[in-house]
Amino acid sequence: MSEPVPTPLLKRKCPICSKPSVEAVKPFCSKRCADIDLSRWLKGVYAIPGTENDEADPTDQDDPFNAERDL
Ligand SMILES: [Zn+2]
Repeated sequence: MSEPVPTPLLKRKCPICSKPSVEAVKPFCSKRCADIDLSRWLKGVYAIPGTENDEADPTDQDDPFNAERDL
């Protein structure tokens, strides 16, 4: 009989460096990675201005007919 092997489903990987996460700072592996993620997140929040007008599909720029149709 083979005993069921505990699946590592609950073991998350650190999103920063992919090491196994530590309970105290999950889902990160260390305080350092947590800080890195936090700083990235904060930068993302403050980097929002300017992205709203960036919705244009790059492929449209190669097709003048598509651009006119949008007008
Ligand atoms: Zn990490």
